Amino acid sequence: MARIAHAGFLHETNTFAPIKAGWEDFVRAEGFPGLTQGQEILKLFPPINIGTGGFIQEARVLGHDLAPIAWSAAVPSSYVTEAAFERMAALTLAGLAAAEPFDAVYLDLHGAMVTEHLEDGEGAFIARVRAAIGERPLVVSLDLHSNTTEAMVDLSDGLIAYRTYPHVDMAETGRRTARYLDRLLRQGRRPAKARRALPFLMPLTGMCTMVEPMAGVYRRLEELEREPGVLHVSFTPGFPPADIRDCGPAVVAYGDSQAAAGRAAEALAAHILEREAAFEVPLLPPGQAVAKALRSNALKPFVLADVQDNSGAGATSDTTGLLRALVAAGVDRAVVGILTDAEAARRAHAAGQGAELELSLGGKLFAGDPPFRGRFRVAALSDGQFLCTGPFYGGNRASLGPTALLTHGGVSVVVSGGRMQAADQAIFRHLGVEPSAQRILGLKSSVHFRADFTDLAEEILLVEAPGAFVDRPALLPYRNLRPGVRLGPNGPMSRG
Ligand SMILES: [Zn+2]
Repeated sequence: MARIAHAGFLHETNTFAPIKAGWEDFVRAEGFPGLTQGQEILKLFPPINIGTGGFIQEARVLGHDLAPIAWSAAVPSSYVTEAAFERMAALTLAGLAAAEPFDAVYLDLHGAMVTEHLEDGEGAFIARVRAAIGERPLVVSLDLHSNTTEAMVDLSDGLIAYRTYPHVDMAETGRRTARYLDRLLRQGRRPAKARRALPFLMPLTGMCTMVEPMAGVYRRLEELEREPGVLHVSFTPGFPPADIRDCGPAVVAYGDSQAAAGRAAEALAAHILEREAAFEVPLLPPGQAVAKALRSNALKPFVLADVQDNSGAGATSDTTGLLRALVAAGVDRAVVGILTDAEAARRAHAAGQGAELELSLGGKLFAGDPPFRGRFRVAALSDGQFLCTGPFYGGNRASLGPTALLTHGGVSVVVSGGRMQAADQAIFRHLGVEPSAQRILGLKSSVHFRADFTDLAEEILLVEAPGAFVDRPALLPYRNLRPGVRLGPNGPMSRG
């Protein structure tokens, strides 16, 4: 039995987005829990689909003793402030000192954190923990969207990433990390490691693991893990809207020997490069997507994914391009969610259910798209507290603050002060809207919505409406990316 100290600090940073993440964003719960400390972590996390939840479950099964320190996450956005990073790092280091003696450390990190003062947030966070714990084993679970750097690999003994997008295996990744650490502790020596960075950026929409080519990448990864001498292989396709040197996909492999780790990393990198062009997925202008849905006689809804206004990728979730296209086409039974507008939600609550009000909706946080002006009826109201039921957010209690269902003609919008990716049917159901009874569902999400909405959809169309998350890397003004990286599959080359 070992005593394992653990902490979590998660942020996915879109350096091109307008809003930074400050300390209060890490303290507050939105789609995921807020800042949680000490023994409370052991109570709250086990039922949730999060790395820490699965790690706690499996470490207990394996008979280890846990010393929980602190866990926090903020909704993806622009840079994490220096103050927020330093406060969480100080909290974690003080917690580690107080938890002594322990045998190993587990960190639940994202992998794509950029702060005001640090390009490689996780590399810096791991470095500080490493300096505090010396040679003791240090393992990390990562999001699939990690921009995995050399420093992260060098300073840890294992980086274990999600293998699904939508991330339905976050807790499973925590369990896998616990088993990996258990093996390290029993064998008592450090694994050999290899990292291979790939020379092109993948658009987020091309990373879905439910379809090819990504499904095949993870099948190949699992084959390679069964090769003799290979302990673990992870692949992180990266988070493209991060203007840092090491942005992009990377493979990490661990083995009994340098040769075994190197061979596995090389083989997976080669498999991915051979399929480069297939990672590009077409997007439709909003009007074309709406027209295509309306031409169908299907009884099931069309899902129109508003991929560039996905708060899960750092967007503001307050653009109205898709809403405008739905209204212009006179669609009956369409619903859009979640549009962030705290003022509109507050005014709807003040007016009351059934009231009508003139609103200038959205367009306040992102400068590139105007608000939608019109008359709305307050169809339903909620406090934004609801239990998520789908495979991605499942088990989480959303906490969005005052929320309203506003209706304009045949089009409704879920409006809230909080930001949450539209990846769970409970977002609609808790306001009395049955998603499967709609003709068109407009979801502000890139890929995570597929976990809970694929089965009810007639067809899924990806829409290129305005938003602070630009899906096509070639359209982003990178300044810090290393030279020689293709900006998208077979895209133009970065100049560095
Ligand atoms: Zn992710």
